[in-house]
Amino acid sequence: MSTIAAISTAPGIGGIGIIRLSGKDTFKIIEKIFVANKEEKIENVKGYTIKYGKIIHPKNGKIVDEVLVSFFRAPKSYTTEDMCEINSHGGMVVVREILEICLKNGAIIAEPGEFTKRAFLNGRIDLTQAEAVINVIEAKGKRELDSAINQLNGELKINLNEIKNDILEVLTNIEANIDYPEYDVEEVSQEKAKEKMKLVENKLEKLLNSFEKGKILKDGINIAIVGKPNAGKSSLLNALLKEERAIVTEYEGTTRDTIEEFINVDGIPVKIIDTAGIRDTENAVEQIGINKSREMIDKSDLVLAVFDNSKKLNNEDIDILKLIRNKKSIIILNKSDLIKNKEYIPQEIKNINENTIKISAKKREGIDEIYKKIVELFNINEIVVGNETILTNIRHKNLINEALKNCKESLIAIEEGLPIDIIAINIKEILESIGKITGESVSEEIIKDIFSKFCLGK
Ligand code: GDP
Repeated sequence: MSTIAAISTAPGIGGIGIIRLSGKDTFKIIEKIFVANKEEKIENVKGYTIKYGKIIHPKNGKIVDEVLVSFFRAPKSYTTEDMCEINSHGGMVVVREILEICLKNGAIIAEPGEFTKRAFLNGRIDLTQAEAVINVIEAKGKRELDSAINQLNGELKINLNEIKNDILEVLTNIEANIDYPEYDVEEVSQEKAKEKMKLVENKLEKLLNSFEKGKILKDGINIAIVGKPNAGKSSLLNALLKEERAIVTEYEGTTRDTIEEFINVDGIPVKIIDTAGIRDTENAVEQIGINKSREMIDKSDLVLAVFDNSKKLNNEDIDILKLIRNKKSIIILNKSDLIKNKEYIPQEIKNINENTIKISAKKREGIDEIYKKIVELFNINEIVVGNETILTNIRHKNLINEALKNCKESLIAIEEGLPIDIIAINIKEILESIGKITGESVSEEIIKDIFSKFCLGK
């Protein structure tokens, strides 16, 4: 395999920049471009050591930067190949210059994710672990990070290997039967196969069910704030954002009409879609506002429906109540500071029997209760990473689903007493699906697709 190089630190200015090299010519390239302060032949440098020195332009002998170079000798490196990491100063020009010199002296530019891809192709990690790397990098919340680290550690791999071993045991039994039918052990082994396949079914079901939590971990929860103009939606959004919890990120939504903000609720990323745009259209055609609300409600996992509790509900409020009828929602009675009777809840709201919280967005009262309710509604406290393997990847989920289908079919086939070689076909399909998750039987194209989502230098 060729020797690859890439800048591994994020583009921009930072304290240090890292240029990474991997492949059989790594040390040869370093020999040409690096002069250690305490001179030493590069070929004698041990793995897991760091050398201080300078990158020298081989053409003109000029000093490019003062650097530290870490040495990793195959197979004890990230990719299992010979590797070096050059720590330079973190300027855009200097890291590019060093990369350029590496490329001129025998390296080729790495594709996104190519270092991790090599770690996978060279057998140091399986595909679930490789995919976990990107999850660690992209984690938006603490719990998602915990789950990604578990997967990186091989938790899912171990789980799938267990299932694989169960299946192989059944297959060995079946094969013995096909090879030596004269022993007439069919019935016993069918009973055994059934027992084992039931176990496999349980394990697959458990994994599949974990995806519900995994989806929350990975994608977080989408919340839409709806309500008529002036009910206090923006004030509520501000109050939610100004809680002490960290704001993960903030950017304008893809559509002109909505703004998306992220908050962090007990380690789970929560995206709040603000209906700021609805207000823009309020004077044009009222219907547009309602349509927009409907669209947002559809897209969300939870609706915060805001009402001005200092005024009587009007038709617009009633329309909103209708919109959220079949939706997981919290009714927010805002502007409680303006009313004397603190217990007051409008009859129309009492009737629908929804979660109702009285707040004052302006005075930031009752906001914590909203947080608590969100935790409760999505069982966030039950998502304890580490207690079980949690599927967070839709590709894995679909393959487990396929495996489970074949498992169920094999069980029916056993029940119906179908010939054992027919049963074996279904059982082998399960292995095939698992192999696609761990990378043993996955197509080149899917591998390419998975690694193309990585960042450069990883
Ligand atoms: P939106 O149109 O639904 O986004 O409503 P805003 O958040 O812009 O609020 C409309 C008006 O109501 C503003 O003047 C706010 O200051 C006021 N407001 C919002 N929440 C409260 C509250 O809890 N108490 C009081 N007294 N006024 C509020």
